[in-house]
Amino acid sequence: MPRHQNKDIEALLQRLEANGWRLTKKSKYFRIYCPCLDWQYQRSVHLTPSSSSYVTNLTKWIARLHRETT
Ligand SMILES: [Zn+2]
Repeated sequence: MPRHQNKDIEALLQRLEANGWRLTKKSKYFRIYCPCLDWQYQRSVHLTPSSSSYVTNLTKWIARLHRETT
């Protein structure tokens, strides 16, 4: 389903979808939902990232999911 103009983000979205994430496309961004559907674990992914660090930050955010407690 994903179709993002940024190749790195497109690859990331494809990987998330393959891992059971839900993705919805809005007019200016994607909304991504962790498979657990916890409201904390969702965020938007802009279609026009402001900087190259955007992908890095997004990747880090995903890697940190479910690891911040206890
Ligand atoms: Zn989750």
